Amino acid sequence: MDASDKSQQKDAFKKEFIKKIEEVSGNCLADASVLKQYQALAELVMEKISAEWAQTNMQYNKQPTKQVYFFSIEFLIGRLLNSYINNLSLEEIVTESLDELGLDYEAILAQESDPGLGNGGLGRLMACYLDSSAAMKMPAHGNGIRYKYGLFEQRIINAEQIEVADNWLKNGYPFEIRKPDKSVIVKYYGHVHAENINGNLTFVHEDYEPIMAVPYDIPIMGYHNKTVNSLRLWSAEPIDGFDLPTFNQGQFLYAVRQKSEAEAISQILYPNDSGFDGKLLRLKQEYFFVCAGLKRIVSHYKRNNSNSVDGFGEKICIHINDTHPAMCGPELMRIFMDEEGLGWNDAWKMTVASLSFTNHTVMPEALEKWSVDMMSKLLPRIYMIIEEINRRFIEELDLNYPNDPDRNHSLSIIKDGQVHMANLSIVTSHSINGVASLHSKILREETFHGFYQVFPERFNSVTNGVSPRRFLMYNNPKLKNLLNESIGNEWETNLFQLKRLLNFINDPVFYEKYNAIKLSNKSQLADYISRRIGLHVDPTSIFDIQVKRIHEYKRQLLNALHILYLYNRLKENPNLEMAPRTFIFAGKAAPGYYYAKDVIKLINAIAELVNGDNTVNTKIKVAFLANFNVSLAEKIYPAANISEQISTAGKEASGTSNMKFMMNGAVTLGTMDGANIEIAEAVGPTNIVTFGLTSEEVSNYNKYGGYRSVDIFEQDPRIQQVLHQLVDGTFGFGLNFQSIYDSLLLYNDPYFVLKDFNAYTDAQNRVDHLYRNEQIWTKMSITNIAQSGMFSSDRSISDYQREIWTVK
Ligand SMILES: *Cc1c(COP(=O)(O)O)cnc(C)c1O
Repeated sequence: MDASDKSQQKDAFKKEFIKKIEEVSGNCLADASVLKQYQALAELVMEKISAEWAQTNMQYNKQPTKQVYFFSIEFLIGRLLNSYINNLSLEEIVTESLDELGLDYEAILAQESDPGLGNGGLGRLMACYLDSSAAMKMPAHGNGIRYKYGLFEQRIINAEQIEVADNWLKNGYPFEIRKPDKSVIVKYYGHVHAENINGNLTFVHEDYEPIMAVPYDIPIMGYHNKTVNSLRLWSAEPIDGFDLPTFNQGQFLYAVRQKSEAEAISQILYPNDSGFDGKLLRLKQEYFFVCAGLKRIVSHYKRNNSNSVDGFGEKICIHINDTHPAMCGPELMRIFMDEEGLGWNDAWKMTVASLSFTNHTVMPEALEKWSVDMMSKLLPRIYMIIEEINRRFIEELDLNYPNDPDRNHSLSIIKDGQVHMANLSIVTSHSINGVASLHSKILREETFHGFYQVFPERFNSVTNGVSPRRFLMYNNPKLKNLLNESIGNEWETNLFQLKRLLNFINDPVFYEKYNAIKLSNKSQLADYISRRIGLHVDPTSIFDIQVKRIHEYKRQLLNALHILYLYNRLKENPNLEMAPRTFIFAGKAAPGYYYAKDVIKLINAIAELVNGDNTVNTKIKVAFLANFNVSLAEKIYPAANISEQISTAGKEASGTSNMKFMMNGAVTLGTMDGANIEIAEAVGPTNIVTFGLTSEEVSNYNKYGGYRSVDIFEQDPRIQQVLHQLVDGTFGFGLNFQSIYDSLLLYNDPYFVLKDFNAYTDAQNRVDHLYRNEQIWTKMSITNIAQSGMFSSDRSISDYQREIWTVK
């Protein structure tokens, strides 16, 4: 665009913006608050998106190609305004115009609430997949729940996590469109009886409790390509008839109760990451968005298909993200049979052809198992269908593997009074995939080995990926510019092109520019840390970062114990030769997960001890940043030198922060777990620091025993000292970490923290030596960026297209 064009566009934009400010605030620009500036900008951008959104929808209707629908109980989308502006190619016009009007673009962006509609990796993955689908012009949409309260806001008070409700909608949300005309009734409880209607056996559901599901659509915009897909989030409301009639008091109170019981369904996101707690309300949530989402998808399909569901299985992919939407199988069967009049076999073929399933964890405590009692009461018709699916499945097993009751029992969907949702998902889907190659192997060989024997062709693997728009281009603009000036901009639409960076792998001029950017990103994070927690950290120190949900298997404890050990070493020898280090943590613990909360408390206690001690705090500092969410994550990755990915091998299905760090030039310090293994293959052994037990070793200890944490404790005086400090008052009066001490010794250290301690300290020493050689370190860092192409979620989506959805 030439200069006069641009200045015309800016003038036009400024006019529109000033007018919008007046509309949304009733004030002129000079008197409008930053919130109003944000609202005006958001509305303007929404108007620009709407035209392209309508156009995309029309195209999809005119030439119905294969459509994908992601069903997920979480979508952790992060802030959208800046992404929309960039995807529309408006970033220069908008930022320069606002600047000329004397406004602060960053401050305006900071007004947007971060929709916390997910806990962590699983929900964020869906957001990256929507982003990539749109970037690739793939018709793929999301279906989930519009939680009124997202994941709690975390504050740290006296070293402890305090939870505060996340009222993310309090100022309204400008990027959603409520569509009450597309509402759906969801039926709970009641009775089902079979009736003979016109010679057909028909199932009638009576005395049910109806809830209204109202959709809100959010546009999902592609990168510079005019494609706008949809994320549909369902909100629960009482159906109109219940709406607060003002008759006598008894009716009024009844109506109020009905209203709040209805609204409870989409009131709050369950804050457990990889944990199952079997609550009735959660089961209601799961059926809620499955039922409402499928109803709309089927009726939309019929509208474009001469009012028939013929061919649904070939044209519509229902992709279920973990087992929370597993009732998609039986619900589709119900729709096809009870509403569309198909027989079992036809309905079954279409259902299996349509459904595919991604598993996210192998940890037994996360596998969903609903009590038969609860499910059959809440969802009588769905339960009947699951029983019939299971009966036919076991009958087939009996045919193929006669006299094998153990197999039947192990694969049964219903057993011991519970409905096993993973088994249901596998039986009703044509594909099940893990999220990294090790994880998929564990699914085949251990977790679902029995199913693998029966359905080997159903097992696939797609390694997770992350959006390079959100986690490289938009959050690290300086690096983006350096990449563009060095290797051109093809990498923006094909991340494998980052390999061209290898041409600069020994170029001192490039090193200098690159290191200046890393330092500047670190300074920005240092400023943030100082503003938020009043801690001054040295931007030239190593930024060693572990940010993710707090969970025993992720082993923040191993990191914390190593810091305590380093503190002890420095107390003994304050002149210890080492590069100064800043350890940075962030992450939330589930409110009821007391052990994880103790780990947060320990990290903060260590931070207080270390940061306040002048003999060590020029060498090490520790920062715990409260309220980890997508917005904070975006600030952190570009500033990292070290990416801590230290889960017990075999436990982290993939990880995705490992990929985001890598794209931003951090070097992984990790176990051979999840996608770390593929990162190691991509960069080669000299550009990653790995340590610790392998997943096979862990699995063997778990199966055959042979690990005694007490033996390690007795042999290693460093560990003795550190563990004693947990309980001897080191952290001040009343701060005692007995629960952690007991888990490590009394309960034999189930996550192998002590077992891997020595290997981890060795690895940390290697990191120190590598970092102190600037040339080596810079080369490692750049190699990581250059080889991060395969961890783009664009690559994941094309794998899904090819292997699982079979679209061209
Ligand atoms: C990427 C991301 C995660 C996942 O991190 P892992 O280290 O893979 O567990 C969790 N939360 C947020 C906000 C993220 O952006």
